[in-house]
Amino acid sequence: MQTTIAAVATARGEGGIGIVRISGEDAYEVAAKIFAPHSGENITKLSGYTMKYGIAHNIDGSEIDECIALFYRAPHSYTGEDVVELQAHGGSAVVELILRACFDAGARMARAGEFTRRAFENGRMNLTQAEAVMQIIGASSQREVRTARAALGGKLGSAMSEICRKLTELTASLAAWADFPEDEIPAVDEVELRGEIEKLSTQLTQIINDSRINMKLSEGIRTVICGRPNVGKSSLMNLLAGYERCIVTDIPGTTRDVIEEKISLGSVTLNVADTAGIRTTGDPIEEIGVNKAREYIENGDLVLAVFDGSEKLSEQDRELADLLRNRTAVAIINKSDKEQNIDIEYIHERIQHIVYISAREKRGIKQLISLIKEISSVGELSDAGLALCNERQLACAISAQHELVCAVTALDLGMTLDAVTVNLESAVECLLELTGERASEQIVSEIFSQFCLGK
Ligand code: GDP
Repeated sequence: MQTTIAAVATARGEGGIGIVRISGEDAYEVAAKIFAPHSGENITKLSGYTMKYGIAHNIDGSEIDECIALFYRAPHSYTGEDVVELQAHGGSAVVELILRACFDAGARMARAGEFTRRAFENGRMNLTQAEAVMQIIGASSQREVRTARAALGGKLGSAMSEICRKLTELTASLAAWADFPEDEIPAVDEVELRGEIEKLSTQLTQIINDSRINMKLSEGIRTVICGRPNVGKSSLMNLLAGYERCIVTDIPGTTRDVIEEKISLGSVTLNVADTAGIRTTGDPIEEIGVNKAREYIENGDLVLAVFDGSEKLSEQDRELADLLRNRTAVAIINKSDKEQNIDIEYIHERIQHIVYISAREKRGIKQLISLIKEISSVGELSDAGLALCNERQLACAISAQHELVCAVTALDLGMTLDAVTVNLESAVECLLELTGERASEQIVSEIFSQFCLGK
């Protein structure tokens, strides 16, 4: 029998409501000792999907707070066990007092991720769904939420299980033929077998590729904002980030080092580095920033090069434009509110995309954002719903796909079907590890240990 566990399910600190969750065979009994509904009902007799308003109290009867209790009966709950959720005012003292009362009433403290682990153990979700729970909590963009929700809905797990089922079928037919070649089992058609394996391998490759794009987009596009001092880089960065974070001043070279910021533009996340500008200077501190700027331009995915449209191009501006000839870059011509003196032809010849903005008057920002989105979505996903959401899943899928490639090679080299069978079986193992159907205790523990408390 699993012990009854309790934990605060909402984030620490002050909030509108605070939730204490209790799960396990004695969840209703524990709740009955610390919660009195105004209706006076015996709550141990309540059916699932019931809500009661009442008072949460200590086991000696002293009141803690007004509270709404939600009741779920096994197996129709998050964990698959009896669950009671007590919703009180969201203050740290209130929820801590209710939690302590739960312990006095017989529950024990839940470990990090233990509610979800129970859901996994009780067959309420597979490992990819459990990981999706963690991903949805940590999601910082619309895209991440969408992928995590699709995985949570079981789409990814089902696709993997389907590939696994087909591979198992192939392995079984190979084994049957190897074991009983004289019986009336049809001989293995190697061409057909090869075709089947290749089809599954292609499916896996598609999922792996999509996942890589998806992870890249979730991680953020490495973006660098550069340009000589005073063109308006910090002002632009503040506009993109939506709040004042950089110091915007008139003194050239104020942005000394590289500041990094994760900026979500809806479906696209940028990891933006605002640099000190490309400039050779005598100032050693600024020099560090300048070197970093060059490094970022070379290694980044996208360069946003800012120019001051009201001024003629300086030597430094030209140097920057020259540097960007073969890079994915946008020339942002700032200060469009002022009279324009820039030699735009020079920029045109070197930088593919050009946008005019006024950071001061917040003009042109929408066009800039749509252009960034357009450029960044070069690698569109074929189906975001089937993207793997972390390195562990990706590693399992890559290993499985590798086994399938080996199986095809074995067939091409005319090796025995036993060798092919071994590859197919290994691929199945990898996929079962991915979905958690055959993941080791160590892997499962490691995954759940990364969860937050109360989830
Ligand atoms: P940075 O050195 O490239 O980071 O430039 P800042 O963002 O610090 O801006 C330098 C100066 O230009 C500040 O005084 C800004 O107020 C001003 N500035 C920035 N954007 C614009 C703009 O669109 N129009 C005008 N007129 N001034 C701007």
